[in-house]
Amino acid sequence: MRAITIVGNWKMNTTPTEAEQLASDIRLNVADSADAMVVVCPPSIGLETVSRVLSGSEVAVGVQNIHSDPQGAYTGEISAEMAREFASYAIVGHSERRDLFDESDEFISQKVAAAERAGLRPILCVGEPSEVRSAGAGHAESYVTTQLLNGLPDVTDISSVLVAYEPVWAIGTGQAATPEVAQHIASALRGALRGRFGAAADQVPCLYGGSVNSGNIAEFVQQADIDGALVGGASLDAGSFADIVTAAAQVKS
Ligand code: PEP
Repeated sequence: MRAITIVGNWKMNTTPTEAEQLASDIRLNVADSADAMVVVCPPSIGLETVSRVLSGSEVAVGVQNIHSDPQGAYTGEISAEMAREFASYAIVGHSERRDLFDESDEFISQKVAAAERAGLRPILCVGEPSEVRSAGAGHAESYVTTQLLNGLPDVTDISSVLVAYEPVWAIGTGQAATPEVAQHIASALRGALRGRFGAAADQVPCLYGGSVNSGNIAEFVQQADIDGALVGGASLDAGSFADIVTAAAQVKS
């Protein structure tokens, strides 16, 4: 059985001091549970502090973005090799990076490979914008499966990868997808993974992201192909985040 995984993406929120406090509150609030993996992704400048605060706890640390190269003349960027001193996961291909920073599928695939090279587990995000969803479920399905497969050409070990289905229209809007829509896409994503990687696809965690909160998480993780969530806004409050983890873990316990 696939474990539940709940990932908090703090985005460009929290100064290092605030990140230290939030990590410490999460450490206190999130109950250790054999039924859920928990990961928090602070801004890069807070990685060292957060990893120190969470060291020895069950909460793992992820980085929100990496460059594809190990080092070089890329002002302002950080590499997977740098992040791995503090993190064990890397979010790759978040829709905000795709849209606001023009990241292509090809660049994203290089980042996935970079994460694998450095021993970080990539969390590859895919999701359709509202105009694709409005064109019909078939369009959304083919849009996200293409994003998924385009992100994985160089992956040799699919067991290190997590996939996050995050419809763009659901992120930060308060309008989560229905569990049925999320399951439909998660099942299509798993089917696409099976086509490329065979039975190993059945071990890949598929998360849902987009306006997840403690009230709706249970119905997502009850779906056959959804194994947790990528949480934005609600991960910035330790109590809300802990409630999401508890509610998710209860479903599978
Ligand atoms: C996200 O940014 O990945 C996200 C899902 O945000 P929110 O939970 O705020 O919708």
